[in-house]
Formats: sequence, structure tokens, C-alpha cells
Amino acid sequence: MKAIRRFTVRTVLPEELAALGRLAANLRWAWHAPTREVFAAVDQELWEQVGHDPLRLLGEADADRLAELAADEAFCARLRAATADLDGYLTEPRWYQGLAAENGGEPPAGVAYFSAEYGLTAALPQYSGGLGILAGDHLKSASDLGVPLIGVGLLYRHGYFSQTLSPEGWQLEEYPELDPRGLPMTRLRHPDGAPVEVRVDLPEDRELTAHVWVVRVGRVPLLLLDADHEANDAELRRVTDRLYGGGTDHRLRQELLLGIGGLRAVRAYCALTGHPAPEVFHMNEGHAGFLGLERVREYVTGDGLDFDEAVEATRAGTVFTTHTPVPAGIDRFPRDLVQRHLASAVHRHAGGGVVDRLPPDRVMALGAENYEGGDPHVFNMAVMGMRLAQRVNGVSRLHGEVSREMFRGLWPGFDADEVPITSITNGVHARTWVAEEAQELAARIVPDSEEFERPDGWRKVTGTDERDLWEMRRTLRRRLVADVRHRLRRSWRQRGASHAELGWIDDVLDPDVLTIGFARRVPSYKRLTLMLRDRERLRRLLLHPERPVQIVIAGKAHPADEGGKRLIQEIVRFADDPTVRHRIVFLPDYDMAVARSLVQGSDVWLNNPLRPLEACGTSGMKVALNGGLNLSVRDGWWDEWFDGSNGWAIPTADSVPDPDRRDELEAAALYSLIEDQVAPLFYDHDEGGLPKRWLEMVKHTLVSLGPKVLATRMVRDYVRQLYQGAADASRRLTADGLAGVHELAAWKRRVVQAWPALHVEHVEAVGSADPPQVGDELEVRATLVLGDLDPSDVRVEAVVGRIGPGDELTDPVPARLTPAAADGPLVRYTGRVPLDRAGALGCTVRVLPDHPLLSGPAELGLVLVPEPPQEMHDGLVLR
Ligand SMILES: *Cc1c(COP(=O)(O)O)cnc(C)c1O
Repeated sequence: MKAIRRFTVRTVLPEELAALGRLAANLRWAWHAPTREVFAAVDQELWEQVGHDPLRLLGEADADRLAELAADEAFCARLRAATADLDGYLTEPRWYQGLAAENGGEPPAGVAYFSAEYGLTAALPQYSGGLGILAGDHLKSASDLGVPLIGVGLLYRHGYFSQTLSPEGWQLEEYPELDPRGLPMTRLRHPDGAPVEVRVDLPEDRELTAHVWVVRVGRVPLLLLDADHEANDAELRRVTDRLYGGGTDHRLRQELLLGIGGLRAVRAYCALTGHPAPEVFHMNEGHAGFLGLERVREYVTGDGLDFDEAVEATRAGTVFTTHTPVPAGIDRFPRDLVQRHLASAVHRHAGGGVVDRLPPDRVMALGAENYEGGDPHVFNMAVMGMRLAQRVNGVSRLHGEVSREMFRGLWPGFDADEVPITSITNGVHARTWVAEEAQELAARIVPDSEEFERPDGWRKVTGTDERDLWEMRRTLRRRLVADVRHRLRRSWRQRGASHAELGWIDDVLDPDVLTIGFARRVPSYKRLTLMLRDRERLRRLLLHPERPVQIVIAGKAHPADEGGKRLIQEIVRFADDPTVRHRIVFLPDYDMAVARSLVQGSDVWLNNPLRPLEACGTSGMKVALNGGLNLSVRDGWWDEWFDGSNGWAIPTADSVPDPDRRDELEAAALYSLIEDQVAPLFYDHDEGGLPKRWLEMVKHTLVSLGPKVLATRMVRDYVRQLYQGAADASRRLTADGLAGVHELAAWKRRVVQAWPALHVEHVEAVGSADPPQVGDELEVRATLVLGDLDPSDVRVEAVVGRIGPGDELTDPVPARLTPAAADGPLVRYTGRVPLDRAGALGCTVRVLPDHPLLSGPAELGLVLVPEPPQEMHDGLVLR
């Protein structure tokens, strides 16, 4: 009989073991090996069977076994130790608690972090790929560092999907139902026990009601909103059914619940628990964009601000992170659909009286692509995020550059390098991803794990005994091989094979063969099948008589992505071939458990995206921390941190316009690298059987990448570079009854209005010698008509640079000019610019808005440059 609905009955533990329930209820077990060992000791076999899920273990543990453990003093002592350790972890001061002293300023009292997905543990499948894993690692690292962060997301009743294969190798999707009562979470309740409910108004007078679940991620609470609520009709109960499932309407409702409902959940959580109210709000990608709008709504209805003021107040405390340079990866909705929904979710909720302070056209303009190349019919969530956040970042240095180019339409008149989008490179949570054996080896060399937060701790790794290091690598590879055989057998059984036909699986992969891992989602830019480009050459690599390689592959295609499924089928069919199937394997259902096994056991991690479409990538970082090496296109993080000897860079043929030819060139380069460099290095063993040069490279990888790839480094960067600035800006604006908000909004309004009348009347530049020489100074004089603007409203700059193609100034160096004299409506500015280089230089001036409450000169997207060119002067063009 098929169950209509799943439900979970929680075990009643013997009193002596009650602490097991506490340990299971906080996800810290997911990255704390000693706690996991306590669970494993309850019943080793069951622990494996339930996939290392403590709640399932406790739910299914045998009552006699529990009674036995309750009487086992040694076990109880271990349990007490683990609980005491958790208590210490939850309450002791950590890095953040010492930050005020370091900073000289008060760090934010609270930070709210909004994300559509979270990858915390395989036991809580609420993620599809890198974005979610990153969010999970952000929360865990924030916990480790003591950052007072609250995470906000949705609880998807079916998660993403679980993947199996048909006999033909076609991806099949299943949506097993999750019962929240069987997951590590509790419902948020009022003191009287009534569950907290969050509501969002929808069109046609409907109302979406959601439960709020709280997941304990160490010190960090994660609030998950769940639309499967009795008050909703059947359709609305399905709003949070699947991650990235359903059509446009469905996705829009999910995002309304995440952003608007999410903020309401945060308010309820803080009121009920005394958690400090967030001063900083972090949107992890555009899915969370409505958070900004709900904050605007709060300021309008709660503080009586007008729209412009509310936007300023919101922007100051908001951080937006963009995660993709792939246009199809940006969330965009039809404008009319958004308009209809916001009329309810924002305006109906706010009540009739405030429509003039929340003008619908202004609200809609937040997501408008009203710039060159934009589509007038869409509402763009990332663009709204950027308009509602004073601080915006990409996720690697290269991705920062690409994003500045991609979104420069929002700051017209500015060069791409002045677009106010910075970058913080992603990182990974070491204790989640690093094998226990590697952690133990590290602890033997550097007993104080704090030292690994700094480069000098990592430098000590060079002292590791190479024999120990190689033994550790062999252990991890062996475990991967065993895990692959286990999973492959299960997959073939699902594909319809009988046990008798599967004897060959015992010989799949070889624990001593160079092992390459490749696992990720399967959008086309990641090029899952690049390795199949020349099948004969690949076969030769796999079957090489002295230096064979073996490849383990995993990845899910989005259920609607037929193209991606075809790629998976191509790989699976190749790997099904009896002549190579012992050397190449596709593992179905890529999740965090498969990922851990792969990143720990692979010697080499292959990554071959189409540069520059991989915003960052993080799986290669996990590999590096486990003593594996990267073989990757210079994209995302690898572009930044590949140093020539900590792995290999696959050359990019990005100047080749024909994509097919480009694939061919890059694949050929990949094969050659494996043949000529990777495999020879791996198999070059000394008399003692050690691959010395390989291990040198592993050590160099650990020393050079270790301190950089940690998510604690990333979270510290967020705190120092973005959260602190956002909190400071927010405090400056909101102090004294929101005085700064009124001032800044009024000032911006005035400047925007007066800007068109501003113009540059005249510019002249005089060298101190004629012709000017390097080392001389150039005196620049400009005459401006300021109109209704005051000299203090603007910053006037002279800009000197080389004259590039199309009369563009390249490598411009700006120097500020100061107002010298006013003559009626004319204001004269002067200043001196040192001439630091020879050649054909050009000079111009530009005028920018200036106010102490701006985050930077490009914030308003306003800049005035006089029409070029005006006058020639001995190789110096005045423009
Ligand atoms: C780390 C990880 C990712 C991220 O993969 P990249 O392609 O490197 O961005 C995706 N999925 C899972 C399950 C992971 O563990």
C-alpha cells in the first residue's frame, strides 16, 4: 500500500540519553566529528544505513540497545563530554565578540541572511547546487566565528529532486516527501505554545499562510517558511513544494514568501527570543529581492517615511550578492505579473492610506531594465536587489569584473571599473568538507586549529611527513573506490540489473590509479561532456598500460533541461561500455554525501567551464583542502589563485568565436595536460614508492590555497568589508529620528532635479613648460555653470590619461579641482595634475555628485563630462 502522507514519530529516549536528542537537534553534528562518533557508537550498522542522519538513527534505534547504552557508564561519559562541548561552543566568546576592540566601532548587533536554498547536510536536502552549499557554509562559518546571523529560507517539502537513471541512461526525477517532524527543526511558537504564522497577501483577496521552522546551525538560527499550512487551499499549500520547480507564477509566489514573509518571520523571531534586531540585511542573489521591498514598506508604514526616504534607509543597511554572469541564471518575471502581485503583497497589506507614499510605478521601477539592451517587459530581481542595496558584490575577482561590465547600464556614464560592485571570493567550510583523516593529520602538525586561520599555520604543513601524507591520500582514494562500487551497484539494481550480472562492479576503479573527479550541476556552460570530445583519446587515457586514469562523474540536470539530460545520457552511455566501465563511472544523485566522498578521494579535480561563466566554483576548493590538485580552466576562483605550481590551468580559447572549434581546442589541451603532465607526475615514484614531486605540489597547494579558500576568511571579509560599512551607514542615516534619511533623500532629489542644468562652460590645461615633460605639472582650469547646485554638492575632477582607440582616455588618473572664484552663475575650478608619463595624453574634467552620506561617487549614476574634444595643445588634447 502506498502511504498517503508520511509522518514521523519521535522516539522517547531513556532519561540518561536525553542529551542525544539535544545533540541531534543542533546541526553542529554535521561538522563536529566527535559528536558524529557518539551517534555512530549507538549502532554502527544502523548509522550507515540511515546515511549518518542522527534523527533517523534515534528514531529507528532498538529500544533494548538504548537501554543498554543508558546503563553504559563509558558511553554516558562520552555523551556528557559531547554535550558540554556543544554548550561551550554555543556560549563562549568567539572572533566576532572581540571585533569591537579590533574595529574601534561597534559591529552590527545582528545580520539577516536571505537565500532561496541552503546546503547544510545531506540529511536536509534543501539545495540544488553551489549557491545553496555556499549559503550553508556561510551559516556554519558565521556560527564558528560568533557572527550574530539569522538565516532565512523556505522549507521545500520535496527538496530539489533525487536522481536515478533509466536503463538507457536517461535522468529520472523523484520527489520524496520530507516530513519536517523527521528533520532537525522545531516550529517557532508563541509563549502560549501557539505556532507562529506568517502571512503574505496575494491577488484575488487570497492570503498565503506559512509555518516558521527553526533549524539550529550551531549558534545560528535558520528560519524556514513552509506554505504547507492548514489555512491554505490545496494550491497554496504547494507553494513551497519544490526548489526551482513550477512555472513563473509559482516561482514568484515562492520569492514573495521568502522576501516578504521571511522578514516578517525575522521580526517575530527577534520579538520572541530577544535576538538582537538585524542592522544588516544580506540578499544572497535576486531570489531574496523582495526583502528590500518589504523593508521599504516597513519604513513607510512604520516610520512614516516617503518612498525616496524609505529606499535610502533600506539601501544603507542592505548587502546584495550576485552569483551568476549567465543571463539565463538571473531571475526575471513578466512585469504585469509582478505588478498584480505587489498590488496585494505590498499595497493591500500596507492599507489604503499609503499608496501615495508607495507609488506603484516607483515600486515597479525598482526592477525595470530601463537601460540600453534592457527588456521593458520584465521585472529583474537582481536589478531590484542592486537598487535596494548600497553594497553589491560578486563572488570572485573575475566575477566582480564581469558583473561590473554586465550591470554597468545601471550606472550610465561610468566606466566599467567604476561601477560600484566589489567582490568577495567564496570559500568553503573546512570541517564540513575535509576528511577526518586529513583533519587528524593536520592536528598532529599544528595542534591549535586556530593557527589554520592564518597563512603561517598553513606554512607548517610543509613539514608533514610525506609518507603520512601519501598514506592519508591512499586511504581517502580507497574509501572513494568502495563508495563508488556501493553506489554503482545500487544504481544498476535500480536500472534493472540482477545481482548475478553485476560481478564486474567489484573490480570497478582501482585504489592505486590516478583518480579524477568531476561533479557539478549540468548547465551547458559547465561542459559536462567536454572530455568526450575525442572519445578515442579519452579511451587511451583510461586504458593506458602504465599510467591509466580513472574518472568519477556526478551531476544533476534541472528537470526542465532536456539538453542537460542528453549530456548526462552521453556520459552514462560512454561509461556503460564494458571496455571502459572499470575506469569511468557516473554516480547518480549528486548530493552533499556524494560530494564529500568525491572531493576527499579524488587526486585531481577537473573543472572546464566556458570562461568567464563560472562565477566562482567551490568544489575545487574542497578538493584542495583534502590534498587533491586542481585541473581547471582559469575561471572563477581559479583565475585568481592559480599560481603556476599549485595545480594546472587548462588554456582557454576564448578568442575563438566558433564555439565548436573552441571546445575542440580546449579539449585537446585538456587531454595533453593529463597525458604529459598530470599522469607522469602522479606515477613518478621514488625507490620508497612515494610520488615526491606530486606530494610537493600537494603541499604547495595546501600552503598557497589553504588560508584563502576557507569560508571563515570569506565571512570575515563580509563582516569587515560589507556588514560593518552597511551597519555604519545605516546608523548614520537612522540616528536622531532618521535625520540622515531625510537629509540624504532630500539632497538626492534636489541634485537629480538640478543635474540637467549643470554644464561645463570651458576647460583649459596649461603645462608648466611648453611642450610639457614628464615630471611637470599641468594646471587645469574649468568653468562650470552650477545652476541650482551648490559647490559643496559636486566634486569636480580633472582626468588625465592616455588617448586610446576611439579617443577614449585609458588608465585615467583623476585629481580633484577646487572652486577658486564665482562670477555670477559661473564657478571657476582649478587644480594641478602631475604629469607622470610620456606620450599622447588627454585631459578632461568630470563632475560628480558629492555628499558625505554617499557610499561612493557612482552611487547616483550621475556624471557630467564635457563634449570632446575642445582644443589641441602640443600633443595634449583637451576634451
Ligand atoms: C560544492 C558543491 C557544489 C558546488 O559546485 P561548483 O560547481 O564547484 O560550484 C555543488 N553541489 C554540491 C553537492 C556541492 O557539494
